[in-house]
Amino acid sequence: MKGTVLCTKKEDSVKLGKGHAFYRDTWAEVNLNAIENNVRAISRGLPAEAGFMAVVKANAYGHGAVDVARTALHAGASTLGVAILDEALALRHAGIEAPILVLGYVRPEDAPLAVRYNITLTVFQADWIKEAASQIKPGTGSLKCHLKVDTGMGRIGLRTEEEGDALAWEVKAHDGLFLLEGIYTHFATADEIDDAYIREQHSRFAHFLEWFKNRTGIKHPVVHSANSATALRYKDYAYTLVRVGISMYGLVPSEEIAGEITVPLEEAFSLHSRITHVKRLEKGEAVSYGATYRAEKSGEWIATIPIGYADGWIRANAAGGEVLVDGRRAPIVGRICMDQMMVKLPDKVERGTKVTLIGRQGSSMISADEVACRLGTINYEIPCMISYRVPRAIYRDGALVHLHNEVF
Ligand SMILES: *Cc1c(COP(=O)(O)O)cnc(C)c1O
Repeated sequence: MKGTVLCTKKEDSVKLGKGHAFYRDTWAEVNLNAIENNVRAISRGLPAEAGFMAVVKANAYGHGAVDVARTALHAGASTLGVAILDEALALRHAGIEAPILVLGYVRPEDAPLAVRYNITLTVFQADWIKEAASQIKPGTGSLKCHLKVDTGMGRIGLRTEEEGDALAWEVKAHDGLFLLEGIYTHFATADEIDDAYIREQHSRFAHFLEWFKNRTGIKHPVVHSANSATALRYKDYAYTLVRVGISMYGLVPSEEIAGEITVPLEEAFSLHSRITHVKRLEKGEAVSYGATYRAEKSGEWIATIPIGYADGWIRANAAGGEVLVDGRRAPIVGRICMDQMMVKLPDKVERGTKVTLIGRQGSSMISADEVACRLGTINYEIPCMISYRVPRAIYRDGALVHLHNEVF
């Protein structure tokens, strides 16, 4: 896939209806076919009754929420999951009408917005129900809710039968205002080989479901517990919906379980730039802030690349970091600046030569996993940390369909 379209003039690109042009050759590519294939491949491994929630929080883990949401829905997802109300509203404003669940906390005073835009909220506090009820104007509609149970994640969710009782009482006290359509929990260790803790959490959840049904008589047609790792590894925990994020983007939830995952996953995100300057250094000549890198011998070819920590390409990438140039690895040298960095080339190349920081060039590949490993973090962080200054070029069937970022 080429990124050259990014050089089109702003006027031309507007005419093409493909979003804004950008005047710096640094961009991310998102392959929607990969996302579509991943959704279908993961779905094939699930029980027939399990629906698919495409988790598109954080701008779809940095991939572009609207494009990913549309693609996942096309590939069979029934529901979308986001972290905050703002993300749900952005999807509605883009014209997406599918059910959306906000997985995180929303202020009770914002419940009327959720009602107006038909957005489902996560609830777990009785006093929240009471406050939200006082904010929703009579006659404006009901609030769809999923009840969150904290079975051991220790983040949000109700933890005891008393809390369940209190919440159910508040729901009943406001007849018809709250539609408790779902009940769910979240596992803390689904991506670890040791299954003792997830089994404990699951048994607490199963117990709570039974108690809640008997105690309150509230029907909960949608029951869910599975993130990517759970959906891929514990089919019995799929219930009627799975909440899949990371693996939809083609990444395995953790290194530890990588060997177990048989579903074919294809990475959707890649990151590219073009060389802006090439120079030859004499032995001892320095590169970048602090002059920490010195040419080891005369005749080293150093290239400048227009990406830096303000793009989310953080300074820690310099430690052992490499990029691909003409299918060959080139090490980052010197400190990474805010907007630029330097690499040592195997040979002299032309200005304008494409550089791949994440992704494939010929038979060479730098995966998000490799970058994560170098930074001592998880692959989830890698596409999320590439900032909105880096435009996302959205590809389908090898053609650019859309170009966007959130800044310009
Ligand atoms: C982010 C999130 C998910 C998706 O997790 P992945 O590991 O990316 O599949 C599922 N459920 C909840 C509650 C989440 O916050």
